[in-house]
Amino acid sequence: MSRIGSELDGWRVEEYGRSRDGVPLRVFRPAGDGPVAGLLTAAQHGEEADTALLVRRLLERTPGTETRWAVIPVLNPDGLLAGTRQNAAGVDLNRNFPATTWEPGESFTYPPGIDPELRVLANRTNRSSPGTHAGSEPETQALIGLIERLDPPLVVDIHSPLELIFARGDVPPGLTESLARSANVPAQDEFEGHCPGAFDDWLTERGTPVIVYEIEHAGLPDLCKRHLPGFEALLRS
Ligand SMILES: [Zn+2]
Repeated sequence: MSRIGSELDGWRVEEYGRSRDGVPLRVFRPAGDGPVAGLLTAAQHGEEADTALLVRRLLERTPGTETRWAVIPVLNPDGLLAGTRQNAAGVDLNRNFPATTWEPGESFTYPPGIDPELRVLANRTNRSSPGTHAGSEPETQALIGLIERLDPPLVVDIHSPLELIFARGDVPPGLTESLARSANVPAQDEFEGHCPGAFDDWLTERGTPVIVYEIEHAGLPDLCKRHLPGFEALLRS
């Protein structure tokens, strides 16, 4: 069977679950059976499609035989297909994790594509559910199951559009700095904003270091030029 256009050199594609709408959740595993060096994830928010495209380009540039990283280009396929932040149940997956910070109230974020000058509290009009309970969503449950199975020593979670790098937990020394230097993106120790039940909260509580990497709003060629060298070096390290 011909699969030109979807084959990726050396990567093994594995379905690790299904979305709320029944779309396969896919992880790209490196060649070989050894432990992974890390897990790179993108498009947890479906309106951040540029993160999925960027990671797809990364998979094309880095053969699965030359890395120990596992990669999930799309954590939220329902949202990506609908162009929404939330999954098909209206849940912001980044508020659905069973961390001690999880809260039952609705969460408010900025609408996608908002002018940076309009990023003031009153304009947080994009309303999401955090789920009926912590970990209620199939995407969340599947990702937790995968992380418990792979036990990655580091997670890098790519979002858009804040243009910053935010490291939590015991990230290997120098790594955040080299990512920040490669793309000339500011690294910071604290993150403004209230994100109860966030993926990175859950990771931090389970002892998995995590880097939240926010790219800027830009066209794909510019995003690739700026961010892919650092990601490629990370995957090959
Ligand atoms: Zn996001």
